[in-house]
Amino acid sequence: MSTSSIIKTVNRPADSWQRQLSGARRSFSDLCTLLNLPASSFDAISELDKQFPLIVPEPYLSRIIKGDQRDPLLLQVLPQAEELVSTPGFSVDPLEEADASPVAGLIHKYHGRVLLVASSTCAIHCRYCFRRHFPYQENRLQRNQHQQALDYIKSKPDIHEVILSGGDPLTLSNAYLQWLVNAIKELPQITTLRIHTRLPIVIPNRVDAELLEILRPCTPRTVNSDHLNVVMVVHCNHPNEIDDDVEHALLQLKDAGITLLNQSVLLKEINDQADTLTTLSHRIFKAGVLPYYLHVLDAVQGAAHFDVPESVGIHIIAEMTQKLPGYLVPRLVRENPGATSKTTVTLITD
Ligand code: SF4
Repeated sequence: MSTSSIIKTVNRPADSWQRQLSGARRSFSDLCTLLNLPASSFDAISELDKQFPLIVPEPYLSRIIKGDQRDPLLLQVLPQAEELVSTPGFSVDPLEEADASPVAGLIHKYHGRVLLVASSTCAIHCRYCFRRHFPYQENRLQRNQHQQALDYIKSKPDIHEVILSGGDPLTLSNAYLQWLVNAIKELPQITTLRIHTRLPIVIPNRVDAELLEILRPCTPRTVNSDHLNVVMVVHCNHPNEIDDDVEHALLQLKDAGITLLNQSVLLKEINDQADTLTTLSHRIFKAGVLPYYLHVLDAVQGAAHFDVPESVGIHIIAEMTQKLPGYLVPRLVRENPGATSKTTVTLITD
């Protein structure tokens, strides 16, 4: 990674997003102490730390209810012994992305759009993540490699949308993001820039004035203008993830002219109730975000204990449809390896 993408924290206030990012909690015993959880030794932690270490930033941590071992935010980040159980049908590359990468850091499997691994790091480690085994070390791109990916996109006139993903692209410095966004704006066939990020949810201070300025000029302002459409897809699974700071950050992004959507993953004992997801739809919409996808869990090794049967998801969506206007009901989808789009899970009609 080039030096311009490295986050410098010297002389920044303690609540700056850079300090909150670099100071995220990484110790299991610290987490237990801070949250008043039983400080029992956990034999699996050293192995899990090697595979997919614990990372929880302070703003997210502050929303977890102390002493509650079943807190829905805690369960998303707490390493569990079940992660070491090998489950038939679950794999380390459930979406077979390795086969769809024509150049390092680029995934081209959908028509008209490509996914660029902009950053190899995340602000939080979600234990159910389908990329928990992704070889980020091999995809930790330098600026010249990002340039090669951009050159590939330039050579494909049928690509109209670039999706910045990761890791989390908003872990990049503003200076590096500015460079990347400018380079994408110069690609004549690109009409839409999409950013997949969990940062506005887990560290809302990431939505700073500089970021808003980087993204604002891209938004369309006049009829027939050639400005880029900017879409941000945030990732929020439970209404407790949205506090006033998160709402404020999301509203700022909306005011900057960015289209905001949310994707959630259907997770056992976290959000597998229609009431929970109905509340999430209301809360996220109040923050200017429309529900987009509710993903059936990708079958990644180490996450089987989060799995919810599709039939349950179907019933949850049916119940939400009774309670909400259509625009607040997310689409229940699953990803099938090799498919050229997400597959909508069909509702029962009997
Ligand atoms: S923020 Fe996204 S990419 Fe990172 S661990 Fe969580 S789900 Fe995975």
